[in-house]
Amino acid sequence: MKAIIIGSGIGGMASAIRMASLGLETHVFEQNAFYGGKINSKSLKGYRFDVGPSVFTEPHLIDELLSVQNPSNIDFTYTKLPVSCCYFFEDGTRIPLPTGTKAVAQSLSENLGEDQKKIERFLKRLEFNYKAVYAVFIESSLHRIKQWLNRNIFNAIYRIPFYGLFSSMNSVNTRDFDNPKTAQIFNRFATYNGSDPYRSPAMFNIIAHLELNIGPFMPNGGMVKISDAIYKKAIELGVQFHLKSRVDEILYADGKVDGIIADEQKHECDIIVSNMDVHFTYEKLLPKLRGPRKILEQEKSTSAIVFYWGIRKSFDILDVHNIFFSEDYEGEFNSIFRQKSLSDDPTVYLHISSKMQKEDAPSGCENWFVMVNAPIDSGQDWEVQKKKVRSSIIRKLSKQLHEDISELIETEENIDPVIMERMYSGKNGSIYGNASNSILSSFYRHPNFMASIKGLYFSGVTVHPGGGIPLALNSAAIVQQCVKKDFSIY
Ligand SMILES: Cc1cc2nc3c(=O)[nH]c(=O)nc-3n(C[C@H](O)[C@H](O)[C@H](O)COP(=O)(O)OP(=O)(O)OC[C@H]3O[C@@H](n4cnc5c(N)ncnc54)[C@H](O)[C@@H]3O)c2cc1C
Repeated sequence: MKAIIIGSGIGGMASAIRMASLGLETHVFEQNAFYGGKINSKSLKGYRFDVGPSVFTEPHLIDELLSVQNPSNIDFTYTKLPVSCCYFFEDGTRIPLPTGTKAVAQSLSENLGEDQKKIERFLKRLEFNYKAVYAVFIESSLHRIKQWLNRNIFNAIYRIPFYGLFSSMNSVNTRDFDNPKTAQIFNRFATYNGSDPYRSPAMFNIIAHLELNIGPFMPNGGMVKISDAIYKKAIELGVQFHLKSRVDEILYADGKVDGIIADEQKHECDIIVSNMDVHFTYEKLLPKLRGPRKILEQEKSTSAIVFYWGIRKSFDILDVHNIFFSEDYEGEFNSIFRQKSLSDDPTVYLHISSKMQKEDAPSGCENWFVMVNAPIDSGQDWEVQKKKVRSSIIRKLSKQLHEDISELIETEENIDPVIMERMYSGKNGSIYGNASNSILSSFYRHPNFMASIKGLYFSGVTVHPGGGIPLALNSAAIVQQCVKKDFSIY
């Protein structure tokens, strides 16, 4: 049998490895000249930047993928970060938050006056909730009841009262903590799947478990090493890559997959896994098919504006991951989701990989990845928006660092929602497909398969189980479970 994967994002390449491991002849068609989708890197005048993701959790999922079928000698190593993120507030408060339940609780107690035991209990609750939902909702298809009807379901159901399904993240976090700054730190994790903490169910607080109880990691050599390692593993298993090959149509007949059209040629196959944004898979590749409207018309996740700045100075008070909070966090999400514009005082995320990897910047300098969350593209003038937000960022960072940083920028590039849509085919530049701004959001994610066309599957962050590298990897594992069952491969 032959499988074709559309797109070489992490979900696509992981799907390719899993299809090849089932003994299928596997081909990946990728529209760009490079593999890895959003996990790629660029170099500018002696500075190296990871272009997309920078926060890396659950590295064991990559280790597991690299050992599929046979142990691998591929060189992929990573380092655990001692500080998950350094938080800056407008009043001058600076909190380099360590990792590990006790250390986080102690830091929040010392810096923000929280009750240490209360924080520990909260973090433990997140861990229990995370573990309870993992086997049912993250490792399995939500849309094949048989797959989640196992003994894990009882544990998941038993914990329902602890999830906070009917409250927003913000309402639980402001209720449970004494200091509004603590709530703001926990609210921030809604942005990890492009959502609004003032509407997202408190269930999504579990995202914080990975970063606070366990801690983030950094692949040695940068995030791009994730793409490189997975690509090498796919090659080892015989996967064939077709770069600069855009798929223009998915062909099907008699209720099953027939092939694809790419480069004006038909390529026949038995199985297709689309790693392309599911919205565009329907709109562009299956134009005659009526898609699931309820799912496709959901509010989309955030997009982003990213500046890549080579800075000719090094700052001791900055860490690998840094957040400079807005004073009006709720107003910022209202701007993004309701007014579809950028806040005048946006929260700024600053990632500096050269803090760990000196070779990423010239000596005495730093590679700054500076990101603000942005609304999806709905026709805004992005040149005007970028100019405005660039000034806000410079004002905010200069105040905290006591220095005019505009004078230090020696090289510069940026991306915005329109570029994001063009580069990766994310609907209107959205990064994670649908936002998780409602209690039913998990059920409004597209399944990993299409019931009406045998052999058509979906992986990546726009489908179940959701946004971020770990979940994209899980989506590929779920596709494998479905393929094995549908085609009786054992
Ligand atoms: C700025 C930014 C910061 C982020 N930060 C983080 C982070 O810190 N941590 C984290 O876990 N996640 C982060 N993410 C999200 C992260 O990028 C995703 O979790 C993950 O990389 C997406 O993988 P994916 O499999 O969904 O596919 P994508 O990376 O979206 O890749 C899809 C691929 O499909 C290709 N394609 C589309 N249409 C076609 C077609 N018709 N024919 C052929 N090929 C096609 C595209 O070119 C692309 O290569 C971030 C994303 C961005 C943009």
